[in-house]
Amino acid sequence: MADETVLTARELYRFYRAGEEETLALRGVSLRVSRGETLAVVGPSGSGKSTLLACLAGLDEPSGGEVRVGGVRISHRPETERARMRARHIGVLLQTRNLLPHMSIRDNIRLAQRAAARRPVASAQELLAQVDLAERARALPRQLSGGELARAGLAVALANSPDVLLADEPTGELDGTTEQVVLTLLRDRAARGCAVLIVTHSAEAVCAADRVIGLEDGRTVSAPAAPERQEAHDVSG
Ligand code: ADP
Repeated sequence: MADETVLTARELYRFYRAGEEETLALRGVSLRVSRGETLAVVGPSGSGKSTLLACLAGLDEPSGGEVRVGGVRISHRPETERARMRARHIGVLLQTRNLLPHMSIRDNIRLAQRAAARRPVASAQELLAQVDLAERARALPRQLSGGELARAGLAVALANSPDVLLADEPTGELDGTTEQVVLTLLRDRAARGCAVLIVTHSAEAVCAADRVIGLEDGRTVSAPAAPERQEAHDVSG
């Protein structure tokens, strides 16, 4: 059977050193996400979720271990190479929103497309239509509601038809109805073949995932109880 794994993390370690103090934010985290799969990562504050997501996105470098996207290593490369790989293969949806405030949402998408330096699969207008924001193309981020902002951020993350979509609390500040809209959009991306990883505290988001892993003190643990489709925690190899 063909290996459908798109995103692989193998034995990731991340140490932070401040003076004498050393924090082990990640202590040997391994995971895989396949094409078409949605993985939820849950865990208490300080357990290493943001650090993991930053390492997976190539925004941060793990101190040990490696990250591969489509079989190609993204970790332990110069920042410029990681940025190019990220632009082409990885959509990142961060809590702080991935929108520049002085640009319209359409121009935010175009900027993300320029970073990939290749012909986009979908135009900015098509991407906005997919998240039901076609009418708001010229709006600035501050002119959007919370739900519209979440969808605009998603359109930017999807600007280059990524193989992997990484989302940090994508529904954190949304009401129930808007949360379902965003989760449906994420599931839709997975259905189109994307490997989706969501860091979340939301029970709804966990239920929408195919699989869930827990993080505790920088290690993967058996995930807490249990949407029906939950499996045991992920392992490498
Ligand atoms: P979570 O996203 O689950 O809240 P984080 O990944 O933000 O967890 O943090 C994991 C651990 O690493 C925490 O103990 C945190 O204080 C520490 N940490 C995160 N970023 C830094 C940093 N830049 N410098 C030092 N320690 C950090």
